[in-house]
Amino acid sequence: MSLSIIPHRVFKRFTDVTPQVLKSMDIHLLLCDLDNTLAPPKTRHPTQEVRDWIASLTDAGIGFAIVSNNRSGSRVLDYCGELGVPYIGHAGKPKPGGFKRAMALFHEMPEHTAMLGDLWTTDILGARLWGLTMLAVEPVEGAPNFGHWLLYQMHRPFMAAARRRQQKK
Ligand SMILES: [Mg+2]
Repeated sequence: MSLSIIPHRVFKRFTDVTPQVLKSMDIHLLLCDLDNTLAPPKTRHPTQEVRDWIASLTDAGIGFAIVSNNRSGSRVLDYCGELGVPYIGHAGKPKPGGFKRAMALFHEMPEHTAMLGDLWTTDILGARLWGLTMLAVEPVEGAPNFGHWLLYQMHRPFMAAARRRQQKK
């Protein structure tokens, strides 16, 4: 169990997380946040870019599921239903339940699982606490409210630290 909120890797966009990147890290399963990671909040339909990216991962044999704290059931169900991917809603990140349920679907262990997300209080803290590889992205559409803006600002030094580590490798 680690209390770090420094991501293992930082990416500008989700499309930068390619099958090659994941394979180089020995990741077999990618869990992915929805809001502000794949799409701006309130988006009801996935773009072709999101569909193509997920297809590239699954074609490469990498498992994929969306793990979201979102509580607006029908929108997220519509979005994930159109994608045809497993979806864990009301995940309660950073608590372990959502991560564990998603890993159980694929019979996968934390050491071969990565979480991709934008928010340190949920995605990043949770992944680091429960032993998953943490991949952070810049939010798709900036902060949806002042609270999120503040959280993104607070986390900037930790994103910068992750980038410095990345450059040294
Ligand atoms: Mg998010």
